[in-house]
Amino acid sequence: MHELSLCEGILQILEEQSRTQCFIRVHRVCLEIGALASVEPEALRFNFDVVTHGTLAEGSRLEIVTVPAQAWCLPCGGKVSIRQYFDACPQCGSHQLQVIEGEELRIQQLEVE
Ligand SMILES: [Zn+2]
Repeated sequence: MHELSLCEGILQILEEQSRTQCFIRVHRVCLEIGALASVEPEALRFNFDVVTHGTLAEGSRLEIVTVPAQAWCLPCGGKVSIRQYFDACPQCGSHQLQVIEGEELRIQQLEVE
């Protein structure tokens, strides 16, 4: 269960931040997920509710923002956006792409008390 361990990681970050930034409740978590991270948003939401039950983030709203992946196109010599692995370059149609971004998962914003 990929999503479950992700949620446990998120909760760990929230608990650490609550200590350093002195908040006691989390109301909203906005997550940025790279298009290539292969995360199922519904599974993530479900596991988030399970994992945060009885914690400082219980009942908080989870927002998921999918960020398009970036790849380097050799023929174009520049960065292009792709939706998934093995996509062609949207500019020249080439498959000589090197993925440089899109596997990340990070907390973009927190609403706390
Ligand atoms: Zn190209």
